[in-house]
Amino acid sequence: MSALIKAIARPEILALCPYQARGGAVAGAVLLDANENPWAPPGAKGAWNRYPEQQAKALVARIAALYSVDIDQLLLTRGADEAIDLLFRATCRAGKDAALITPPTFGLYAVAAKIQGAGLIEIELGQDFSIDPKAIIAAAKAAPVKLIFLCSPNNPTGTLIAQDDIIRIARACVDQLVVIDEAYIEFSGTAGLTCELAALPNLVILKTLSKAYGLAGARLGSLIANTPVIDLVRRVLPPYPLPAPVIAEVQSALAPVNMPIIQTRIAQIITERSRVFEALKAAMGVQKIWPSAANFLLVQLRSNADVLARLKANSIHVRDFSALGEGMVRISIGAPEENDLLLAAFQAGAAQTTSPRRATISRQTKETQISASLDLETTEPVRIDTGIGFFDHMLEQVARHGGFSLILMAKGDLHIDEHHTVEDCAIVLGQALARALGDRAGIGRYGFVLPMDEAQARIAIDLSGRPALRFEAQIAEAGAGGLGGQMVRHVFETLSQHLGAAIHIEASGQNTHHVIEAIFKGFGRALRPALAREGDHIPSSKGVL
Ligand SMILES: *Cc1c(COP(=O)(O)O)cnc(C)c1O
Repeated sequence: MSALIKAIARPEILALCPYQARGGAVAGAVLLDANENPWAPPGAKGAWNRYPEQQAKALVARIAALYSVDIDQLLLTRGADEAIDLLFRATCRAGKDAALITPPTFGLYAVAAKIQGAGLIEIELGQDFSIDPKAIIAAAKAAPVKLIFLCSPNNPTGTLIAQDDIIRIARACVDQLVVIDEAYIEFSGTAGLTCELAALPNLVILKTLSKAYGLAGARLGSLIANTPVIDLVRRVLPPYPLPAPVIAEVQSALAPVNMPIIQTRIAQIITERSRVFEALKAAMGVQKIWPSAANFLLVQLRSNADVLARLKANSIHVRDFSALGEGMVRISIGAPEENDLLLAAFQAGAAQTTSPRRATISRQTKETQISASLDLETTEPVRIDTGIGFFDHMLEQVARHGGFSLILMAKGDLHIDEHHTVEDCAIVLGQALARALGDRAGIGRYGFVLPMDEAQARIAIDLSGRPALRFEAQIAEAGAGGLGGQMVRHVFETLSQHLGAAIHIEASGQNTHHVIEAIFKGFGRALRPALAREGDHIPSSKGVL
C-alpha cells in the first residue's frame, strides 16, 4: 500500500471487507442470485427488475472520454455531493481528523465534515477572494488534515484559482488529498487540472453534469483521482448508487450528436454572463459586483435599493448570501429572456419586448438520432453533420441564405441508404422552424428566383401554417453526392408538412448538382424575408396563421 493511502485512509475502512455488489445482469444467464423479481413492472422502459451495475461500464467509458481521463481514474457518484461525502467517510475519523476549507466557499464541505464528525480548519479567502497557498500549506501541516477542498471556480465568489497555486499546495501537502471541485470549470474557459493527475498522486477532481450539462435532476457526478485513491473510495461506495433509468437517460443525453448544442449553450451562458455583468455594474441598485468564471455572479446590493422587493414581486429568485455581508446575493445566469427580466427588475437595460425565436429538438428513433438547435435571431453558428456531405452542404445553404443559426447533428442508418436520415432531418428542420416561429406574428410570404450557372430555381413560400407542395423539376434519378434525385422532392414535401408552409418550386438545368443546389439556396433566400419579423401583426386577414 502506498504511503499516501496509509496516511489518508481510515484504518477501519482499509480493514473492512467491502460489500460485494452483484456485477450486473449477464445476458442469457438465469439470474437467481440477487433476490430480484423476474418481471419488470408493466410499462417499465428497461429491465428495472434487475439491480444495476455498481459502475455502469458504458457510462463510465462515455464520461471518462468526456473528461479525458482513464476509466480506472473515475468513480460515478450521485452528484458531486455524494463524492464529497464519500471522501469524508473514507478518510476522516470522527473526533480525530479534519478537513481544510477556504470560506466563503461551497457550504456542503462543512456540512459533510460535521456529519462525519470531522474537524474543520478554515483559511479565509483574501479581500479579492484569492487563496493564500502559504497559509493553507502551513495549516494543513500543523493539524491532522486529511482533505483540502479548493473550489475552482469557487461557489459563491466565481473566482478561478491559479493552477500554479493548486500544484504548489498538492506538491507540499503529500499526506493530504487535495480536492479540486471543478463543478463550474466548463464556464471558465480553462481546461481544469485533470492533465496533472499523473504527476500528483494526491490530487482529486470533482466534476458534475448538473451545471454545464443541464442534468442536475439526474444526479450524476464524478470523482476523478489516481487508481489507488479510487480504490480506497470504492470501499465506501454504496452497492448500487446509480439508478438504471438515470444511467439510460444520461447515456442518451450525452450522445455525441448532442455535444455541439451543449457546447453552444455553454458559450451562450458565458456571453450572457458578460452582458448581465456589464448591465449590473452600471445599475443604480448595485454596490459591488465581482467578475466570475462560473455561471453565476456575486452581487452586493445597495442597502437603500428596493431591488429585492422588485425581484420578489416578479417571482425572480436569487440566492441570499447576506452572511457574507449586507445585501450580498448570488445570481445564476439564466436564458437570455430570463436575464432580461432580471435586468428589468434592476432597471438596468431595456426589457425585451419581442420573444426570442429559438427551438431545440431532439428526435430519436430506431433509424435515426437527431439533435437540432435553431435560432432565428442570429446567423451563427451554422454546423451541420448528417453523415451525407452533399446534404450537409445543402442544409447549410438553407441556413446561410435563410439567415438563421442552425446546428443539426444526425446519426442515421446510412448503411441501408440515405432515405431515413434525409427524411428525418427534414422533419426536424421543419419542426424546429415551426416552433421557432411561434404564433408567426410579423412574418411574411415570399418568393425568389435563383440562377446558378446554367440552372435556375424559382421558389415561392407561404408560411401559412397549411402544408402544400408544388414541385416541378427534372432531377436525374442518381441525384448528386449521395442524395438520390427523388429525395430532393421528398425533403421539401416533408418540410412543407412539418413547417406548415406552401412551397412552390420550379427548377431546370443541365447539371444535376447545380439544379439541386439552386433549389436549396433559393429556398433559403425565399425563407429569409419570410422569416423576418416586420412588426407584430399577423399577415393574414384571418388574424391567425
Ligand atoms: C453544485 C455544486 C456541486 C454539486 O454538484 P452535484 O453534482 O449536483 O451534486 C458541487 N460543488 C459545487 C461547488 C457546486 O456548486
